[in-house]
Amino acid sequence: MRFDVLTIFPRMIDFYISESIIKRAIERAIIEVRITNIRDFASDKHSTVDDYPFGGGPGMVMKIEPLYNALSHVKSDGLKRHTILLSPEGTVFNQDKALELSQRQEGIVLLSGRYEGVDERINLSVDEELSIGDFVLTGGELPALVIIDAVARLLPDVLGDARSNVEESFTSGLLDYPHFTRPAEFMGIKVPDVLMSGNHKEIWKWRRRESIKRTLLKKPELIDETKLTEDEYKIMEQLKEEV
Ligand code: SAM
Repeated sequence: MRFDVLTIFPRMIDFYISESIIKRAIERAIIEVRITNIRDFASDKHSTVDDYPFGGGPGMVMKIEPLYNALSHVKSDGLKRHTILLSPEGTVFNQDKALELSQRQEGIVLLSGRYEGVDERINLSVDEELSIGDFVLTGGELPALVIIDAVARLLPDVLGDARSNVEESFTSGLLDYPHFTRPAEFMGIKVPDVLMSGNHKEIWKWRRRESIKRTLLKKPELIDETKLTEDEYKIMEQLKEEV
């Protein structure tokens, strides 16, 4: 799957994708991340990408022409790629959106804004606006990386064990269960016996119960009762009395 990132800070993107799981996914040609420096598409000798806002006010605005030209260049092969403007005003990105984007085999284009934002006329060229949360960052590079990371790890063979995605928070409608590794005891706190019992059925039941409990405690709004088995529904009702 191809990701295109349009930015005026290409090294920020390059730095992150050159490590760990994303790096390996690129080496194994599962994903491709192309970085386009918007500055290369400015038409003046100073490579200007910002200008004063019409009507006055603080800060600068990202100019439309370099961004539009960069986008046209990226799309010059004629393939219709899903184009996303990173913006605090956009729909808030979540796991369902990551899953949806992971199925867009045509690829995704991510436009990273800077300054006070991008000239409004860019909206003619984008398919959707996405935010990574209700807060304001200095630029769209971190949001672009957040989206690439969350989408890439859903693609086949990116993670070492495909079960990681299935059992993870949000995917099953519940939060993840608690994880432990060695030592079996740390500062007097022991790993639950069941996890060392070797009884996989009991381990699975314990983890499912813990997932339900955590979700009830931390994000009860996530619980989709239709995804619970009859037994799990009973466990949830019982846990509701306890938590
Ligand atoms: N003036 C804008 C506002 O009040 O909504 C904020 C602009 S912000 C300083 C500059 C750029 O950072 C935006 O154009 C966008 O690309 C990116 N950005 C900032 N916060 C973001 C967020 N929460 N999600 C996605 N992109 C964000």
